[in-house]
Amino acid sequence: MFGGKDHTVTAIRRLDKSIDYYHLPREKKPLFQKLKKIPFVRGVVAIVEAAANGSKHINFASDRYDVVPGQEVEKVEEVSKIQMVLGVAAIGILSFLFGKFIFTLLPVFLADFFDFLVPSKTGQIVLESSFKLLLLLSYIFFVSLTPLIKRVFQYHGAEHKVINAFEQNLPLTVQNVQIQSRLHYRCGSSFILFTVIVGMFIYFLVPTDPLWLRVVNRILLIPVVLGISFEVLQTTNALRNVPVLRYLGYPGLWLQLLTTKEPQDEQVEVAIASFTKLREIEKTHVVSN
Ligand SMILES: [Zn+2]
Repeated sequence: MFGGKDHTVTAIRRLDKSIDYYHLPREKKPLFQKLKKIPFVRGVVAIVEAAANGSKHINFASDRYDVVPGQEVEKVEEVSKIQMVLGVAAIGILSFLFGKFIFTLLPVFLADFFDFLVPSKTGQIVLESSFKLLLLLSYIFFVSLTPLIKRVFQYHGAEHKVINAFEQNLPLTVQNVQIQSRLHYRCGSSFILFTVIVGMFIYFLVPTDPLWLRVVNRILLIPVVLGISFEVLQTTNALRNVPVLRYLGYPGLWLQLLTTKEPQDEQVEVAIASFTKLREIEKTHVVSN
């Protein structure tokens, strides 16, 4: 999936080896457009949008990838009840929030459990953040061992390679794309790591005791942490060509060693097709992926 200024495009490989596309115009709700101009708030809006949009794209891909073209009509009826009631976008947002809850609160309880060993506030916050990082990294690592997610991460790597080749003005051939790095500075998954680091600093400003207050403030601070992390990501992106300061973005790149994998040539073809389609639809600058 590639995102342009006004559109997002997904390409998938069908069973008969043909490539199929799904493209969504970006919804320009007036309220969203206004909110997107406000620093800190715009990050939260962007994440909610990404969760909703991504969910629609994944739904398309999982609906189609194992269906032979021409036979997809029979599958149309198979929409689950939850999907009908809530809509695909809402499910995306809800599952994002659910994950956020788990990965925010579990570290709180784990750190609190070790209160007898590490009683100081500083120690507790560092411990909580370390648990959070460990949980996130091991979660990403273990899901990446499943064949499905491994493929997703290969496509993710393929997307980065395409963008890297494009930014060097190389013709988008499989060979030119494959030799590129599978890491990209502007990657959205770097964001995950920044939320852990930013969260740690923000937690110093609020009370850690008693436990219920800690739980409540962690939940209430979720949008704050997301909003600030988004600004940090934007800032590191802006500094990517500045000597020394460019290293600020490196933790995000390291995380991509987990969230991307080396793609196969066939997968690179799909990523090139998807990107080319987006460029056709939208002759403007590609901002994110
Ligand atoms: Zn990425």
